[in-house]
Amino acid sequence: MRSVTIVGASLAGLSAARALRAESFDGRITVVGDERHEPYDRPPLSKEFLAGKAGLADIALSTEDDAGLDLDWRLGTTAARLDPARRAVVLDSGEELVSDGVVLATGARARTPRGSALVDVHTLRSLDDAVALRADLLAGGPVVVIGAGFIGAEVASTARALGLDVTVVEILPTPLAGPLGEEMGGHVAALHQDNGTTLVTGVGVVGFVGGSRTEAVRLADGRELSAATVVCGIGATPNIEWLAGSGIETGAGVRTDARCATSIPGVVAVGDCASAHNPFAGEALRLEHWTNALQQPAVAAATLLGRRADLRPAPPYFWSDQYGVRLQFAGHRRPGDTVEVVDGDPDSRSFCAVYRRAGRPVAVLALDRPKLFGRLRRQLVAPEPEVVR
Ligand code: FAD
Repeated sequence: MRSVTIVGASLAGLSAARALRAESFDGRITVVGDERHEPYDRPPLSKEFLAGKAGLADIALSTEDDAGLDLDWRLGTTAARLDPARRAVVLDSGEELVSDGVVLATGARARTPRGSALVDVHTLRSLDDAVALRADLLAGGPVVVIGAGFIGAEVASTARALGLDVTVVEILPTPLAGPLGEEMGGHVAALHQDNGTTLVTGVGVVGFVGGSRTEAVRLADGRELSAATVVCGIGATPNIEWLAGSGIETGAGVRTDARCATSIPGVVAVGDCASAHNPFAGEALRLEHWTNALQQPAVAAATLLGRRADLRPAPPYFWSDQYGVRLQFAGHRRPGDTVEVVDGDPDSRSFCAVYRRAGRPVAVLALDRPKLFGRLRRQLVAPEPEVVR
């Protein structure tokens, strides 16, 4: 292995470069990224950066320690095709980067609502998205957020902190029921009402009203919610279309085993674009979690270099900051798991809850209980215990 091309210049891509160097790989590393910015951190885009409490320098991912990585950066450059036989990454300019190993780290993009022809309906995935959204928020409300998932909830929380009138519309009866289950989803969603955000559930958005700018959002029940700014947070789609024709196996993302190996030798996939076999869950998961994008590349780097470390079945982990409350979740919940509040009181929005399957703790949720959360997280048991060697 004398050369590696990393496609995607964000958290997973940069972490892969760091991991390769940490494994003493001294060959050429080229990093291709379609954004023109240096790698930056995405979580602050819906939090401190959107609120104006963090600037560009605060969200930069590269540190002084990265100066010695000796990377050939190709920013503002899009990978258009992968030729598996030669492990060639073909750029949209036609240039080909042929290397011994390829890391796919192209992440995901925000889903857009059907029929949103109006250009001022925001989504939030990139720095440019956050800059545009902040400019509109500063012009004043009302704000309508479509989707009460984590990104939607964080945007609503930040917009409220800016003093704006905010309504969140969620098509499901209970927000966050997917990741947290109905009961806990309800407790977390109550944060909206506690903080003066109007939450409309069980009804979808069917259209947008306005001329050159959106003036209102039309709901399926006929209501129209007036809006100066509309933000759509309805999930993300992995950036894998460019791999069509390469023969690489895909499903919810690029399919990999627990070691990040794809169906093409010498090609690994990491971060939000990868659907990797997860030894904790005992199934393939495409995680959209910061910690996964940070940690998984170490496994991928070892795989590329032909090294095999034991894989521990660590539970997936994410956090979300909403209305001054830190939510943390670790593990893997499935429909049918039971959940019990083990500390605190959901009504005070400060509690810990443990999810169990056949009596075994498989996931833990905490609101503003970081210490106990840390302890319970370490006690989680893989539902399908499996150590991959
Ligand atoms: P990305 O960060 O999506 O990076 C992929 C990069 O590849 C992008 O720059 C993309 O433009 C580029 N790319 C795509 N296709 C190509 C191509 N063909 N050629 C070249 N480049 C390409 N997680 C948490 O756990 N907690 C949080 O609180 C949290 N908050 C978040 C808030 C926001 C607003 C967002 C958007 C995400 C948040 N996340 C959070 C998720 C976390 O940021 C992601 O899991 C993480 O960024 C994934 O990193 P990645 O490198 O895999 O993908």
